[in-house]
Amino acid sequence: MSSKIRILSEDLIVKIAAGEVVERPASVVKELIENSIDAGATSIICDIKAGGMESILVVDNGYGMSREDALLATERYATSKVRKEEDLYAIQTLGFRGEALPSIASVSKMRLITRDVTSQVGIEVYREAGIEVSVCDAGSPVGTSVEVKNLFYNTPVRRRFMKSVNTEFFHIHRVVNQMALSKPTIQFRLVHDGREILNVPKTNDPSIRIEAILGRETYEGLTPVEFRDETVALMGYIGKPMLTLSTAKSIFTYVNGRFVRDRTVNRSIFDAYRALIPRDRYPVAVLFIDLSPHRIDVNVHPTKREIRFRDQEKVYRSIHLALLSRLKAVPGDARISRAIEAYWQEKGVHGGIREETGEYGQTEGKDGGRSLMFPEFFREAQPGGFYTSLFPLGQIGGTYIVCHGPQGLVIIDQHAAHERVLFEKLKHQFGNAAVVRQVLLFPHVMELSPAEDQILGVYKDELEKLGMEIEAFGGTTFAVKSVPQVVAGEDIESLVKDIIGELASEGRSLQGAAMTEKVFTIIACHGAIRGNRALRDEEMQTLLGDLEKIDFATTCPHGRPIFSEIDYPHLDKLFKRR
Ligand code: ADP
Ligand code: MG
Repeated sequence: MSSKIRILSEDLIVKIAAGEVVERPASVVKELIENSIDAGATSIICDIKAGGMESILVVDNGYGMSREDALLATERYATSKVRKEEDLYAIQTLGFRGEALPSIASVSKMRLITRDVTSQVGIEVYREAGIEVSVCDAGSPVGTSVEVKNLFYNTPVRRRFMKSVNTEFFHIHRVVNQMALSKPTIQFRLVHDGREILNVPKTNDPSIRIEAILGRETYEGLTPVEFRDETVALMGYIGKPMLTLSTAKSIFTYVNGRFVRDRTVNRSIFDAYRALIPRDRYPVAVLFIDLSPHRIDVNVHPTKREIRFRDQEKVYRSIHLALLSRLKAVPGDARISRAIEAYWQEKGVHGGIREETGEYGQTEGKDGGRSLMFPEFFREAQPGGFYTSLFPLGQIGGTYIVCHGPQGLVIIDQHAAHERVLFEKLKHQFGNAAVVRQVLLFPHVMELSPAEDQILGVYKDELEKLGMEIEAFGGTTFAVKSVPQVVAGEDIESLVKDIIGELASEGRSLQGAAMTEKVFTIIACHGAIRGNRALRDEEMQTLLGDLEKIDFATTCPHGRPIFSEIDYPHLDKLFKRR
């Protein structure tokens, strides 16, 4: 009987490894840029054709390679960065596995041109599917250029997995942004099909690079953060609580210079913002976290995107605390200082990292301790808080309240502000006992379409708990018998249609707290004072007082900012006083 087990051929082994490192064109770009950074380049140019599927060219002005090294570099496990096992535990460079170049070469047509200072003339090595086709002298400045053509041409299955030119380029663009953000002292240029997409000059000021990559508007919503304790040194920029996005795409975290996505790091960021921004929104952050290389293991995954901390919990606490202390200084969030005090208190009492419950409105942790992640913790109004420190001067456009603030001018969006107040009020009533309802003297009779009727059937009981009592009247006619008090007197018909419409667009999956919050968002929106309505002084004062009492007082339930501040330095700048 012949054996079924066969030793894999060398060719196949390389292809399997290539599958791990080279997932798509963006992975090639990432590996090549990492090599250029490791080679001390101060300028890196990426010229991409057709989303990288046609060609990827990365040119750097790093120290280049000698003839011997250039030949070795495309061999498997050839690296100048790790010599002995101990080195693996103290990695300082981005590369170390010695498999990027051979892996890329094995699934493409790759041309490497390089020269180092000791060589008079450069060398050109050309490989197809990893096989050396030609080697010759080449004129070249000191530095390296790698051209990768026809990626995956010899692995048709992989090739079929590639998406559109736009999608592949989108990923490349993202990789270049990730790299450029962390290396301001290197010039990055990205060209796609002849069009310059990005060109950032080198600078010693990281904030200039951050503004160039994230854009002016985002940059202005950021605040610098710096922190150091016995475990980590952290620096970077984080968004003020009113700067939020609908995705996590603007969270850039680096550990020892390497862009990573890590659960512990993300959790510490989200938890720091948890009580400050709406739960379906994400903060912006560019954070550089440095630890002794002995405290982490980067050799976890071939793409090096994952790392392992030796002491996760310490890392979590350090980052969490660093962000909280910084956010404390942002106006409007004086209550954060309370959170920090509590944090230290808790640190002594409870050891472990709290598990995420993903739910607001739960006051108690499992162990009965009050958790700073939950808004109820902040419930009592702060004497001398941000909103009560404001003095309303008047209203403009019937929409904005203009106030004198401690740092300058503060402008409040009255609708957004009131919406948040009502939303918190509803949640508070609901959590305490029940939503306060107004029973209508005359039930409001309205028609629903068969589709709306069906949705109502699914959610009827739930809605009743939220203060909306709707009864079938026969056929397509329905009677609304009660509504939450905060919307009493508003247009009931459009409220009901909005709620049903929103629930319909969610399918049947919406349940529990998510459903409640969605419905409260709509009710709050309907109940809130509109734009274009004049407010009396007392009304403005009351609104400010109400804002002070609640949580999330920086954004409306949809995530729009409630206030905007033009501080004195900004005013001075406007009037060219400095
Ligand atoms: P690794 O980066 O893990 O060492 P690679 O396969 O990416 O492995 O590269 C192999 C070796 O080739 C590197 O260790 C380095 O010595 C050399 N090399 C690759 N790219 C460059 C470059 N752009 N400039 C100088 N040397 C390079
Ligand atoms: Mg490398």
